[in-house]
Amino acid sequence: MKCYALPMRTRVVVLGAGFGGLELTTILSDAFGETIDIVLIDKGDTFVFGFSKLDVMFGRQLPAAVRHPYRDIVKPGVRFLQSTVRSIDPAARRVVTNDGTFDADVLVVALGADLDPAATPGLVEGGNEFYTVAGAFALRDVLPRFERGPAIIGVTGKTFKCPPAPSEAALLLHDYLTARGRREATEISVVMPFGTPIPPSPDTSQAILAAFAERGIRFVKDSLVKALDPGRKVAVLSDGTEMPYELFLGVPVHRVPQVVVESGLAADAYGWVPVNKKTLETTFPGVYAVGDVNGVGTPKAGVFAEGAARVVAAAIIVQLRGGPSPEAYKGAGSCYVEFGHNVVGRVDVDFLSGPKPTGTFQKPSEALVAEKALFGSSRLQHWFGQPLR
Ligand SMILES: Cc1cc2nc3c(=O)[nH]c(=O)nc-3n(C[C@H](O)[C@H](O)[C@H](O)COP(=O)(O)OP(=O)(O)OC[C@H]3O[C@@H](n4cnc5c(N)ncnc54)[C@H](O)[C@@H]3O)c2cc1C
Repeated sequence: MKCYALPMRTRVVVLGAGFGGLELTTILSDAFGETIDIVLIDKGDTFVFGFSKLDVMFGRQLPAAVRHPYRDIVKPGVRFLQSTVRSIDPAARRVVTNDGTFDADVLVVALGADLDPAATPGLVEGGNEFYTVAGAFALRDVLPRFERGPAIIGVTGKTFKCPPAPSEAALLLHDYLTARGRREATEISVVMPFGTPIPPSPDTSQAILAAFAERGIRFVKDSLVKALDPGRKVAVLSDGTEMPYELFLGVPVHRVPQVVVESGLAADAYGWVPVNKKTLETTFPGVYAVGDVNGVGTPKAGVFAEGAARVVAAAIIVQLRGGPSPEAYKGAGSCYVEFGHNVVGRVDVDFLSGPKPTGTFQKPSEALVAEKALFGSSRLQHWFGQPLR
């Protein structure tokens, strides 16, 4: 942390009210109440958990049940502004939005990863994607019409959020088609850029591959889907192989939000914001990058965004109140993995403390279904003041 004096009523401007922005804002409000001035800015009006996208597309939840309106954030010291961030000047810590300009004492960029379905030729015209809220929710009406033929769950770029999600989608699609009596008439393949589903955790990968084998799901490793040819209904892989599809469920190309590239915080659309691995501070004093937008080297997942937000919050608290230096970012977190058959597994991954990433696996169980539900509802309680379910 670079030291510079903060004023009595410090203004913290938080860009993005996702996992990272919500966690950071909540901790600072709890710590300082009305004595801090936090402006939380997001272009959207609701928060949706990533995992809720799978719930909605497979008909396990209604869209309205998984949208959490930002207007419910009533926290001392916090003002939520629904507006689009148009420019960021990290040297001046100045942000221009559609609704005004904000100068910050501390600026936290938590704008996530943007999704770019148009970067994959044919995907918008001839396929579906389940990573945006709109794409996942639209699938609710598409999946019931899938009757027969090959389904591909295809990753289109090397970096993507929540690495277990494509495997989860395949296992949940299997259950969905089985329940509709359509599994015999269909085939499911997963195309992934890794050699195994979860490279840091061989046990988790083995369990997923065993579940695929049991259910007749094909795993196509070390490959990306580079294009779809909607006329011929084929997906073209990175090595030129063609795979026919009747249903294509894509993971779109991820990129750094354009406003972040233009700010100079990132070198280009695929250069995630460089940060100090221990503090998440960028090269600009008082400017942090938290969550999917940064290039700290952890997977792009909510739990990591949350962990990063806690480290930055601790640094701001120490800077304002004094005390010992906060702990460095550990890059560790737990991800729940939907295995279908109404059970959930868990992988605890640690990316930064050893020479290479490691992961330990907890077998799928009903107890972990309950733990995952509590994970979600405890965040809603903490961030939005909802009662714990
Ligand atoms: C299908 C799926 C399943 C997933 N499952 C899990 C899971 O089980 N566990 C887990 O930990 N993670 C999961 N994830 C990943 C998780 O959703 C993300 O990694 C996490 O949300 C990242 O948090 P963040 O705060 O960095 O960014 P985000 O949560 O993406 O928030 C960024 C915010 O910035 C806002 N924004 C962007 N640009 C602008 C702008 N110019 N102006 C104003 N606002 C802007 C956006 O509206 C958004 O609200 C899943 C993701 C998907 C797609």
